[in-house]
Amino acid sequence: MKPFTYSILALAFACQAFPNAKPLNVLFIFSDDHAYQAISAYGSNRNKTPNIDRLAKEGMIFHRAFVTNSICAPSRAVILTGKHSHLNGQLTNGIRFDGAQQTFPKLLRKTGYQTAMIGKWHLKSDPTGFDFWQVLQGQGPYYNPPMNTPDGVKRITGYTTDVITDVTLDWLKNGRDKDKPFFVMSQHKAPHRNWQPGPKHLNKYDGIDLPEPETLRDDYKNRLSPASTQAMTISGHLSASDLKLRAPGNLTPEQRAKWEAAYNPKNKAFEEAKLEGDELLKWKYQRYVKDYLRCIDSVDENIGRLLDYLDKSGLAENTVVIYSSDQGWYLGEHGWYDKRWMYEESFRTPLLVRWPGVTKPGSENHDLVQNLDYAETFLELCGVDRPKDMQGESIVPLLKGKKPGDWRKSLYYHYYEFPGAHSVRRHYGVRTEKHKLIYFYNLDGWEMYDLEKDPNELNSVYGKPEYASLTKELKSELDRLRKLYKVPEDTRPVERKKKPRKPKK
Ligand code: CA
Repeated sequence: MKPFTYSILALAFACQAFPNAKPLNVLFIFSDDHAYQAISAYGSNRNKTPNIDRLAKEGMIFHRAFVTNSICAPSRAVILTGKHSHLNGQLTNGIRFDGAQQTFPKLLRKTGYQTAMIGKWHLKSDPTGFDFWQVLQGQGPYYNPPMNTPDGVKRITGYTTDVITDVTLDWLKNGRDKDKPFFVMSQHKAPHRNWQPGPKHLNKYDGIDLPEPETLRDDYKNRLSPASTQAMTISGHLSASDLKLRAPGNLTPEQRAKWEAAYNPKNKAFEEAKLEGDELLKWKYQRYVKDYLRCIDSVDENIGRLLDYLDKSGLAENTVVIYSSDQGWYLGEHGWYDKRWMYEESFRTPLLVRWPGVTKPGSENHDLVQNLDYAETFLELCGVDRPKDMQGESIVPLLKGKKPGDWRKSLYYHYYEFPGAHSVRRHYGVRTEKHKLIYFYNLDGWEMYDLEKDPNELNSVYGKPEYASLTKELKSELDRLRKLYKVPEDTRPVERKKKPRKPKK
């Protein structure tokens, strides 16, 4: 289908003169911290996601989808603006998003699209560019979420993943103007820490042991210091509430009774206290991963509810459905939970797209794409010209099975949040199809990985003579990308040194 121009679209709205050139609707379903390792279409050995898999069967799955900065708020800002963090201003989670800047929903809205944002927003400032918005406050709780709206706070009883879908369905059924095309963002809090499952899934995976990843007991050798100085290990950094040794404070009496029946917090605390060493690690790993996957079960079911509605309402054939997450995640790989790193598990993110009649069902894509491309893609799907200052590339040609000859061969990544939660040092780097070069710039230290020989990234080959010429090439490519994306040298943040503690008298 040829993209609509602005004028054709405007005319179509004005007089319905193009019955065969109906503008597309877009349903963007987005989650927070969903590891591709926890999606069966990506080969999960730990869970099944039948509804997300439907998108793979009926559309395209992207095996090399990445982010530019693997953390929540920055990723959302990149998606809204089509610009890297240093240009959209959202370098870290702590910054308030500048909602006055250009974003794709504003551009869609100008051409007559109806835009809606429901669920997790996480950008501190109120959403801009939406006809309808109802969003969680900050991170938002897993149960009974108060939600911000332009008319004040709504308090809703229920499990947040279900609630976000309920509000999305209600807007699709009753809230929108049915004469206009829509772009709706339905964004989950799940499966963000601390992984509180819904009432239906509290006992899923009981009585079974889930497989452990190969690198659960990583010793962090053959790399620079950052991999060993982080604070995100399953063995050492999970809290009592992560491990469900106490119940959340905001449950209704009925919710609390189910919760306590499932976790029996006092007994579990006792059970944990008896364990040590590797036995304790095994226990924590099972506890953590099961809760994480239980949260995914709700996300998957709710995606099913949306897909069923599109089918029943007749909207499915003219609606592009996209599923993605704000970044990837560690499900025990390298011994970790959390994200932030340019290592594959958190650098990558799930991306699946169903475009009926255009994208070949069951197709698999291995090109290098990034969340930097989403805004440009959304605009092209909706027939709106992309502004020149956006930095990504529309993936619409890939969805049509036509890869442009000059498609990118490398990706730029930049993480800024240090000092910060989980103590991951600032770094930037370049990834090509087969290699990755990472620079921990405040430490002036490099790592390099041969992704074919060492897919788990356990042995940095930086400084090895046989990689000397490749290292030179990657450094030059990194320089090229930093210039292309206008990364300012003088905005490199300087890490604050911790003040030495005063000795106790
Ligand atoms: Ca996130």
